Amino acid sequence: MESNIQKVHSICEKALNDGNLSKEEILVLLNCPEEYTDIIFQTADKVRKKEVGEEVHLRGLIEFSNFCKKNCEYCGIRGKNKSINRYRLTKEEILETAIKAESLGYRSIVMQSGEDPFFTAEVLADIITSIKMKTDLAITISAGEFTYNEYKIIKDAGADRYLLRFETSSEELYKKLHPDSDFHHRMECLDNLEKLGYQVGSGFMVGLPGETPEILADNLLLLQKLDLDMAGIGPFLPNSDTILAGASGGTLNNSLKAVALARILLRNAHIPATTAMGTLDPKGREKALQSGANVVMPNVTAQEYREMYQLYPDKICLNDDPAHCRGCITRKIEGLGRVVSKEHGHTLK
Ligand code: SF4
Repeated sequence: MESNIQKVHSICEKALNDGNLSKEEILVLLNCPEEYTDIIFQTADKVRKKEVGEEVHLRGLIEFSNFCKKNCEYCGIRGKNKSINRYRLTKEEILETAIKAESLGYRSIVMQSGEDPFFTAEVLADIITSIKMKTDLAITISAGEFTYNEYKIIKDAGADRYLLRFETSSEELYKKLHPDSDFHHRMECLDNLEKLGYQVGSGFMVGLPGETPEILADNLLLLQKLDLDMAGIGPFLPNSDTILAGASGGTLNNSLKAVALARILLRNAHIPATTAMGTLDPKGREKALQSGANVVMPNVTAQEYREMYQLYPDKICLNDDPAHCRGCITRKIEGLGRVVSKEHGHTLK
């Protein structure tokens, strides 16, 4: 009978040319002991090289509002958290930040916020139109759930991409962690984004309380089923301002395994080395880039606001300015023998 390590080897061998792993095969890799996980990371790195090449795409992250009407149990900016200061960037500040990002060499930005009722689809559309008039940036929006028509207004204004993570594929766990959201509605939003022609990104957290290896495997299979253009995966990091403060978070090894498996299953999707990985381990983002990731999202938000946008604690780079982050990340990427892309980094699908 094949030993577990032999099974890991043969699944990885198959995965080099074929991303259609069964749930059982995914579980063998997810349950693989830590000392053997390098085989999985190396396999994902080879698939990354073959499918998306050596370029790393940078997306400049603008955190434009930390107001949120929702109360996701894990989130540091949940509406009911009274212990943080709230801020909203003005249209002029967002535009100025976008122009600065372009001057630092970014070809693409991500505008991210909580679900802030101030930023209606019309308000966002107005800002997007202005950015598109003044820059040649590709724009990703990550501002939560809207109706089909609202997503259409945002798309018609020029947004290229939309990020909306499902966080977990387990309906039961989703309900527990999202008291004011519905899993099916989330799926409907992702479907609407796809229909409207957005490049769609989604993803999940690793190590949520109540998560099992089966749920993690289903998360990965859901990424594949959604046929995403982008997939973001990061560890759950418990925030002391939430009721999950005492929970144990996701580990780097499990998060890296999830990134590696996402690369194996999704082949040419864009996969970021998330900032949360860098928070878990100073080399976390580099390790993710060597385990299947091909995107980094450095913060371009002005330093004064960064402290207030902490979905999870001890977020890295809070005291750095955008120019510093740009130089720092370029050195890290080049240090791995990779190159920073000069393109917009649109979908490869
Ligand atoms: S995860 Fe998003 S929607 Fe949920 S509370 Fe945080 S910012 Fe709001």
